[in-house]
Amino acid sequence: MSHGILHLVSLCRALVALALVTSAVPASARPLVVLDPGHGGSNAGAAGAAGIVEKQLTLILARAVREDLAARGIDVVLTRDRDTTLTLRQRVAAANRRGADLFISIHANASPERVQRGFETFVLTAAGVDVDGRALRSETGTPRPALDEATALILDDVERGACQWEAAELAAAVQRELRGVRGEAGDRGVRQDAHHVLLGATMPAVLIEVGFIDHPIEGQELARPETQSALAAALSRAIASQLTP
Ligand SMILES: [Zn+2]
Repeated sequence: MSHGILHLVSLCRALVALALVTSAVPASARPLVVLDPGHGGSNAGAAGAAGIVEKQLTLILARAVREDLAARGIDVVLTRDRDTTLTLRQRVAAANRRGADLFISIHANASPERVQRGFETFVLTAAGVDVDGRALRSETGTPRPALDEATALILDDVERGACQWEAAELAAAVQRELRGVRGEAGDRGVRQDAHHVLLGATMPAVLIEVGFIDHPIEGQELARPETQSALAAALSRAIASQLTP
């Protein structure tokens, strides 16, 4: 971790702490991670090559990561712990409400020809704010009762910028750990694009695609308990390294 990034990480933490103070929620000494098992309920996600569907795999992985992190003294809350339908807004709101240190959404990929494989991590951006800031802000600004509206909006923007660096660091750590268990060849890198905007999150946020569940070989691997354990352990190491530098 470079000095400059370390500085920004500290800024991000400090601002989140300030947000907690202003909303009168007591800050916990233990780090808190909100894990978001992708899809659920009526939204099954991608269909796997081995029968397992994305919403099932993401819940298995999230529960395993929760167990791993708990053993490391890191508290974890899942956005869903059963097969329920949630909107993106509900998932983000859960993380904001709890003042989470990190928000991590877990997914599995699919491709039209079922030939692609590998893993990638998206830094969830607030890029939409730059495009049409006022429209988005009016709907997604973090409630900060103790601050006037203008100050609260500035704080939102500063937080997003600082948290972006920490999200990029986390994404790089996730890819590094996934390379260790899934191999260099599958590394599709850290990505950032317009489709992965997580509006309103006030903590560093990433979305992990652990592999292509519909690939004839990789899909079979992702259905195996030993692969799932290895993936969960890798994600846990990446998250723990980010929270305990
Ligand atoms: Zn998905």
